[in-house]
Amino acid sequence: MTTITNEVTQGEFQAAKKYVDDVYEIVKKRNPGESEFHQAVQEIFESLTPVFAKNPKYIQHNILERMVEPERIISFRVPWVDDNGNVRVNRGYRVQFSSAIGPYKGGLRFHPSVSASIIKFLGFEQIFKNSLTGQPIGGGKGGSDFDPKGKSDNEVMRFTQSFMTELYRHIGPDIDVPAGDIGVGAREIGYMFGQYKRLRGGYEAGVLTGKGIQYGGSLARTEATGFGTVYFVDEMLQDKGQTFDGRTVVVSGSGNVSIYAIEKATQLGAKVVACSDSNGYIYDENGIDVATVKQLKEVERKRISEYVNVHPTAQYVEGCSSIWSIPCDIALPCATQNEINAEAAQMLVNNGVKAIGEGANMPSTLEAIEIFLKNDVLFGPAKAANAGGVAVSALEMAQNSSRVPWTFEEVDAKLHNIMKNIFKNSKEAAAEFGHEGNLVVGANIAGFVKVADAMISQGVI
Ligand code: NAP
Repeated sequence: MTTITNEVTQGEFQAAKKYVDDVYEIVKKRNPGESEFHQAVQEIFESLTPVFAKNPKYIQHNILERMVEPERIISFRVPWVDDNGNVRVNRGYRVQFSSAIGPYKGGLRFHPSVSASIIKFLGFEQIFKNSLTGQPIGGGKGGSDFDPKGKSDNEVMRFTQSFMTELYRHIGPDIDVPAGDIGVGAREIGYMFGQYKRLRGGYEAGVLTGKGIQYGGSLARTEATGFGTVYFVDEMLQDKGQTFDGRTVVVSGSGNVSIYAIEKATQLGAKVVACSDSNGYIYDENGIDVATVKQLKEVERKRISEYVNVHPTAQYVEGCSSIWSIPCDIALPCATQNEINAEAAQMLVNNGVKAIGEGANMPSTLEAIEIFLKNDVLFGPAKAANAGGVAVSALEMAQNSSRVPWTFEEVDAKLHNIMKNIFKNSKEAAAEFGHEGNLVVGANIAGFVKVADAMISQGVI
């Protein structure tokens, strides 16, 4: 038989490929029309063939078909009353994907685009991301098609209370621990925690993460995803003898992840020249003033276009997708899924981009990733690059359990170390399976193996 690597024969490789392809067909058939979920599954499956070829036990235990089927999906009605007395109805979701290595863990997203497909893609990716952090957390995700934009504080409170009135029976500090995501920040987490506490009749601090510091939150959780993304990209750069210092950076979005990515990249000596929201982007050749972005977005909840009123030398451009036409050394997509398509990726490459760090979940399409890899752009995939947020969420859970809070510096140092380890483990896994330098493959494999082995140990459940 032909040997294609030292240890894998052509026959073993073909058997693995057939298994992966067959399960992917099942996924498409069982989840019709869920394109985002299919995309997330496809990306991971493409990476795993060499693992199955080398370890046929995963095929014997039919690990993939079990992994792509969530342990539980909850979908529910969320009725609430707006400020004009109208009764409104939204749909809530929680997908409890995998509890192989710990309680379900993953954010809640409130955005009109939320659907079963979006929550399933996010929940599926979360399994591998959480495993990569080295923390004992399973994978889950949830949310609603509710749009917090333009709603009053009271409307947001009434909605989140109604949402939690159903969700509370499915979650708990050792069962399922939600956190924030798009449209769910400190305000929403606060209202949900209050309602959970009221319904449960007990103070279970570890049921949600991303809480306010006054009531069980962790220092550095707010910063964790953005800082972690920059720490990860810094590892990729240092591995090639480079740094952030003096680099031009473009960051999409202007929410939680973006703001702290801008802050950390700037601290490391880079100049971040642009950021955006869903309406358009700002370009400031002097470097974005992150204090202004924080004031506009975190305090006043305004549009990014208002930035130019504070910094008149900056420009505002309507439409967010053309942000990728700005020449830069490093691009950090931190807004939403599929925001970099093939055309945008090619534009970035033509303009000389050196590194991409995915702060958002699945911001690059499969075609875009291919273009980056083909052109030797350093590529930090979401699962690895943005895992800092959930890693610090797990540290928040640890502090809640021990009832001992840590300092900002302690948490930040642990975060930094976790990001270094994720980079190292992903790089090594890629090399071990013959994909030297490909962190997409490396992160997928490193995340997968631990979960798969835990599933085998726990039997067919
Ligand atoms: P956020 O605070 O709500 O900010 C989201 C930002 O992205 C806003 O600037 C928003 O603009 C923009 N955006 C949202 N949907 C968009 C769309 N369809 N098109 C263009 N822009 C859009 O959310 P976040 O927590 O920063 O999350 C951003 C991304 O990071 C998401 O992919 C999320 O899943 C991922 N992530 C977050 C965390 C975390 O800890 N928060 C952890 C890991 C990964 P508008 O204000 O105009 O909507």
